Amino acid sequence: MVRIEKLRKSFGSHVVLRDVSLDVRAGEVLVIIGASGSGKSTLLRCINMMEVPERGRIFVDGQPMGQHKDDGSFTVFPDRVLNEKRAQIGMVFQSFNLFAHLTVLDNITIGPVTVKKTPPAEARELAMALLEKVGLAEKADSYPSRLSGGQQQRVAIARALAMKPKLMLFDEPTSALDPELVGDVLATMKQLAEEGMTMIVVTHEMGFAREVADRVLFFHQGDMLEEGTPEAIFSNPRHQRTQDFLRRVL
Ligand code: ATP
Ligand code: MG
Repeated sequence: MVRIEKLRKSFGSHVVLRDVSLDVRAGEVLVIIGASGSGKSTLLRCINMMEVPERGRIFVDGQPMGQHKDDGSFTVFPDRVLNEKRAQIGMVFQSFNLFAHLTVLDNITIGPVTVKKTPPAEARELAMALLEKVGLAEKADSYPSRLSGGQQQRVAIARALAMKPKLMLFDEPTSALDPELVGDVLATMKQLAEEGMTMIVVTHEMGFAREVADRVLFFHQGDMLEEGTPEAIFSNPRHQRTQDFLRRVL
């Protein structure tokens, strides 16, 4: 579903992604862990072109996310093409980023109606089904400010799903939440995983990683240092740096 080949990204002279190569199968849940500043968010942001890679290739569902030149360099597609490609990828951030002036329902329908030209009635029906799924149907007409952080994040997940993405990217979706609100969001993500969604999740929730991930990847200074099953990474990490990191977070 996702193929990344020798992805490189620098900010000025600081190389943040060092020729990262990575494959994610359809239906796979990949959890990325690693220290602050190791490049996890930059990697996710490159996949949906919120950051423009310097070099390398990125394919989502077999289709290139940018124009790959023979010399390895990378150019973005024109906006129209880029927007179509981005519509296949849902992204959920630490901050929920809902539109404050729109109701919960309108937050979810606006993408399908404006980007995909879905008829409004159909978009509303889908939005209600998604709100049921994340357990918030009764909040359809509320404004985001009246919801808890955990509820807002579940609306953000429903909003991403409304675009019928092939891939979901989560960047520390529970880091901004009070501890008692984390569980509901993780349960929603777990359900999505069980339904077969392809997911790349950056998180510090090691319990979620152990339980839901098919594969865990430890990121260190802009590259993948170690990857394996949750069992292999958590119970038997091979690298000293992985061991040190896990000792600090577990
Ligand atoms: P965290 O766990 O704190 O979220 P991260 O692994 O997600 O960290 P990134 O946000 O990808 O790390 O950042 C990797 C490095 O790139 C950091 O050193 C950061 O300061 C730098 N960086 C990220 N975005 C930019 C930017 N827009 N301009 C300059 N430097 C940036
Ligand atoms: Mg980050």
